[in-house]
Amino acid sequence: MLLETAGRPLVAATLPDPAPGPQQLLLRVLACGVCRTDLHVADGELPRPKLPLVLGHEIVGEVVAAGRGAHRFAAGARVGVPWLGWTCGECRHCRAGRENLCERARFTGYDIDGGYAEYAVADERFCFALPATLAPPEAAPLLCAGLIGYRSLVAAGDGAERLGIYGFGAAAHIVAQVAASQGRRVFAFTRPGDDAAARFALELGAAWAGSSDAAPPEPLDAAIVFAPVGTLVPTALRAVERGGTVVCAGIHMSDIPSFPYALLWGERVVRSVANLTRRDGEEFLALAPRVPVRTAVETLPLRRAGEALARLRAGQVRGAAVLVPDGAPAA
Ligand SMILES: [Zn+2]
Ligand SMILES: [Zn+2]
Repeated sequence: MLLETAGRPLVAATLPDPAPGPQQLLLRVLACGVCRTDLHVADGELPRPKLPLVLGHEIVGEVVAAGRGAHRFAAGARVGVPWLGWTCGECRHCRAGRENLCERARFTGYDIDGGYAEYAVADERFCFALPATLAPPEAAPLLCAGLIGYRSLVAAGDGAERLGIYGFGAAAHIVAQVAASQGRRVFAFTRPGDDAAARFALELGAAWAGSSDAAPPEPLDAAIVFAPVGTLVPTALRAVERGGTVVCAGIHMSDIPSFPYALLWGERVVRSVANLTRRDGEEFLALAPRVPVRTAVETLPLRRAGEALARLRAGQVRGAAVLVPDGAPAA
């Protein structure tokens, strides 16, 4: 399913089978998660994507073939491909262990064709081993929603016992489970009137769920803003205690309105989380089965990728939307 131009629907296309280059794997796509970033790319909200482009950066694949120098995985191995597709290894950020900030990074489903397809190629150094026991659709959301959620949770701080989460989508539904397993209390803020999302948050262990325009019943130690809504930043600052951190976890957000300095005073911190490192992935994928994280997914066949994006845009997805090969049963 191809994005030819931002702002236009995806189109079904037949492309030549991709050939794995040096250190790349050819993968048969078993499942690919649908992430909000895909919507931002499709809508033209992010600069200079490769066009035409195959979206998708939560790929669960099976190794079909390996290019020159690729020896890490055997044919038939189950691997996960995340957003971080390649880094230079040489820039100041790479050398400082912050490859998520690499100046020349290339991203899956953005600079490199992604997983809204039957086959994909990926640099094996940026792939993760996945257990074959985990069903591909359930594993897919771990690869971005889970990883970025995990990095955001770390950024919120170990001391954040009372954790606010604004926007209860794919990442939030995973983070809530991890946070609860660590003894934190999760306060889930959902779209005003979205009672189903509030109930879903409570089912996943949130201590409280309410509307994003409501104040929490007690001050928070930190908050993560997953919704791409800039007005939530001052709202979240108002909800956190002195010394608290507000983490903006999305790649794109509407403008943040001006707000009184008093909201930031008291050593409150506003920060973003950008991309992931391979270390985030290794840590989170080791942690997830111990929680254990159980993802709620809605699967759609690949040919209905446009519908999956529309459902995500409308806030109709419970948990995460995942594309599966055409012909696989939908759920
Ligand atoms: Zn670099
Ligand atoms: Zn993503």
